[in-house]
Amino acid sequence: MQPYSPGKPIDEVKRELGLETVVKLASNENPFGPSPKAIEAVRLAAENMHLYPDASGFEVKRALCDKFRCKQENLLLGNGSDELIHLLEMAFLGGPEDEIVVGDPSFIRYDAGAQLTGANLVKVPLDTNYAHDLPAMVRACTEKTRLVFVANPNNPTGTLVREPEIRALVADLPEGAFLVLDEAYYEFAEGEPGYPSSLALLMDGLPVIGLRTFSKTYGLAGIRLGYGFAAAEVVDIVDRIREPFNVNSLAQAAAIAALEDTAHLAQTVASNRAGLDRLSSALLELGATPVASFANFVFADLGRPARPVFEALLRRGVIVRSGEVFGTPTCVRISVGTPDEMETCVAALRAVLG
Ligand code: PMP
Repeated sequence: MQPYSPGKPIDEVKRELGLETVVKLASNENPFGPSPKAIEAVRLAAENMHLYPDASGFEVKRALCDKFRCKQENLLLGNGSDELIHLLEMAFLGGPEDEIVVGDPSFIRYDAGAQLTGANLVKVPLDTNYAHDLPAMVRACTEKTRLVFVANPNNPTGTLVREPEIRALVADLPEGAFLVLDEAYYEFAEGEPGYPSSLALLMDGLPVIGLRTFSKTYGLAGIRLGYGFAAAEVVDIVDRIREPFNVNSLAQAAAIAALEDTAHLAQTVASNRAGLDRLSSALLELGATPVASFANFVFADLGRPARPVFEALLRRGVIVRSGEVFGTPTCVRISVGTPDEMETCVAALRAVLG
């Protein structure tokens, strides 16, 4: 197994390159930080951090049920959606008699559970528009397939797949297999015509598991809380194997407060849209080929090795992701930052690519 390679931390880059200001556009975080309401809720909750958290996450689940009109029995909670991916794989994969189907490139953490359990990992290349090739993914399924992972929008490419294609995939899944619809960037894409919701598909009785997170639009990546929608039987299985206190009390408090701050969410989404436009048009102007994104990052083919560009941007204090980790060595992935950070990034791109 390759260790997960996270975006370079700001302090490390400052230290290594002797820079004073560094802009990190490498991990798809919320550049505006968390809601002030979430910060206040964490301050208050800290008073009780000598107590174990609520193992059932009752209040968070209640807040999610109020928002989504769903039942607690259909909710999964995890230490980030990373943990939910892991738990689902531990629940459904036993060894080489099982397999998962994933897009390539897609979120790399899907691979780990297959590698840990010895299950068969089937990687299906994205189509020529860098989107999941759902018909090819169905064709790749066999009677051994337990889980099919579709990140929607996809990381690292930002593309999305629409409801008719998703329904067609689910209709053709082998008996007993689930589609895991990873909606980590859901709120950025919400409202886009034809963009499906995993919860609606689940409520239609389809074998779908939805995954979402507080790490992106809600700006809580550091405190870790992911959630998911699944059939009650799936929730029951995950509940048996998870650690009892997998979601800490500060994360629970932060999430409840973050859900209430709809203005922070709306501002995050609106600013992101402007940032996507700014970044995409600058990349286009500089001769790169950006992929239309529905998330909070832009994936672009530079038409030349990305590693030297990544390094030159780093020396100018801008951290992006270089494509080798995704198997696309001429591409970069750049997260949307604040308007100021976007200007710094565009100036650095001009200096390096122009
Ligand atoms: N799924 C996708 C598609 C992601 O991009 C990420 C974050 N990089 C995650 C899941 C994990 O998010 P978290 O564990 O922070 O909830």
